[in-house]
Amino acid sequence: MRYGLLAGFFVCVAFAAIWAAGVLKLLQVGWHAQLHSNIDGIIIGALLVGCAGYAFGFRKILDLRREQGRRTLAESKADWITYHDFLTRLPNRRFLKEKAPDIVETAFGKIGYGVLAFDLDGFKKVNETVGPDGGDTLLIDLAGRLSAFMPEAILVRLGSDEFLLIAGCTATNRCQNCSDPEQARKLAEDLINLLNRPFDIKGMQISVGACVGLSSYPEHGLRLKDVVKQAILALSVAKRQGRNSFVEFQPEINEDLARRTRIERQLRDAVANGDIVPFYQPLVDLKRGTIVGFEALARWNTPEDGFISPELFIRMAETTGLISELSEQLLRQACRDAMDWPKQVGLAFNISPRMLEDRYLGLKIFKILGETGLNPHRLEIEITESALVRDTELAAAMIRDLRGAGIRVVLDDFGTGYSSLAQLSVLTFDKIKIDRIFVSGLEQDEKKSKIVRTTVALASGLGISTTAEGIEQESQLDYLKQLGCSFGQGYLFGKAVPPEQALALLNTGSASGTEPSRQVSA
Ligand code: C2E
Ligand code: CA
Ligand code: CA
Repeated sequence: MRYGLLAGFFVCVAFAAIWAAGVLKLLQVGWHAQLHSNIDGIIIGALLVGCAGYAFGFRKILDLRREQGRRTLAESKADWITYHDFLTRLPNRRFLKEKAPDIVETAFGKIGYGVLAFDLDGFKKVNETVGPDGGDTLLIDLAGRLSAFMPEAILVRLGSDEFLLIAGCTATNRCQNCSDPEQARKLAEDLINLLNRPFDIKGMQISVGACVGLSSYPEHGLRLKDVVKQAILALSVAKRQGRNSFVEFQPEINEDLARRTRIERQLRDAVANGDIVPFYQPLVDLKRGTIVGFEALARWNTPEDGFISPELFIRMAETTGLISELSEQLLRQACRDAMDWPKQVGLAFNISPRMLEDRYLGLKIFKILGETGLNPHRLEIEITESALVRDTELAAAMIRDLRGAGIRVVLDDFGTGYSSLAQLSVLTFDKIKIDRIFVSGLEQDEKKSKIVRTTVALASGLGISTTAEGIEQESQLDYLKQLGCSFGQGYLFGKAVPPEQALALLNTGSASGTEPSRQVSA
């Protein structure tokens, strides 16, 4: 501005000089010659000053423009950084909050749109396998793959391995009508298949899966914010269902969330009041048909919601830090109950993955055994495979301590984790529990029966016994006996029952008041 005025001033000087020259030309007659030459000099001087000033001002304007251009570029770069993820170059969460609502409203407000929230399965494992830079490469490749999948869609990276896709429902688009369940499912399937295709990272073929949550406008919300919230809620349900799951938002999901929040609020009081108690499911010697022990399974009966699944409240207790207190309480009670059973009847107790991180776990268990008087040889500690992968060294030390004190250690849910065989080679167990997914349909499914047979052979090679979980039918029992499985557990023998019924079961060989179960004798 300042330079513009300056240039204008010099232009005015130049014009004034030209004007003065013209006037003086007219008055030339009769003027003194000396005066003429002086005035000409002044006019030429003024003209030169004007032109130089004009050139100077013009140059300054050009500089200013250039500077402004640089500033605009820097600002747009800063803007890009604010609204994009540096690694994948995709828009980020802030973009979704601040910019996307207007863009989506203009582009898809009239035609409708779907929001797909998705999260990679096993990305943590990828980072462990190919390192963080390998993980970064996968995310970059994935962003490219996704952009090609639906070029018109808005793709946002929400967090480490969480993404969101906003797709308008158009005839040319994959999302022709996201509120049609068939099309929505097809869209989610396509997305899951796309993400399941292996990625070539550092010469290795790396596979991930994905869980998808879908919601659509206007069915599930009128503001983008709400539609996104519903998609993320649907995703959280899909993640609970397991790998490569797809869930479309339903109003019940909100009710489920409200229920979960209510349960989480009540959990602290329930632990403090001792409302969560152990029930006992019989463990049976398959050859003799006798009860050799009970597995303690936590039960919580609430006035409002009835029995809550232990899988739910145990996970909640882990995340809220209540798990140690709860487990100690349950173990103390279970040991007291077991003191009423005959001495040859054992007690199996589940240890949550979180608790394995507690260096004092062994000491806590010994203290409870001391308090209650239960012989360590009667106690079996069940540890799931997934719990052991977190810190194998710590787990190994813990297992050594427990076994050293005479407590048996059982590898639970065998075959469902990542590294069953690796764990068997590094850690020492007294027993393997074959997960019930291998037992259901065992008689008809040749693959399952081969897996069970091999597991039994493997365990026997290692000098340890096996328990088959989830035996529901006589035919399964017969088959498992043929395969050489030593112990069994399942609804065929009885569900988990309260302590007095467990005792009755031991005394009479039948559990009164439970679901129909096979008669077992102690
Ligand atoms: P788990 O350790 O694998 O326990 C066996 C689960 O299988 C129990 O479910 C049991 O009721 C169920 N089950 C037993 N027989 C059958 C059958 O024939 N058919 C079918 N379909 N299911 C059968 P539950 O009681 O719901 O427990 C689920 C999981 O929650 C347990 O799996 C365990 O991981 C965890 N859990 C239960 N109680 C405790 C506890 O006190 N502490 C810890 N840390 N975890 C616990
Ligand atoms: Ca168990
Ligand atoms: Ca199990």
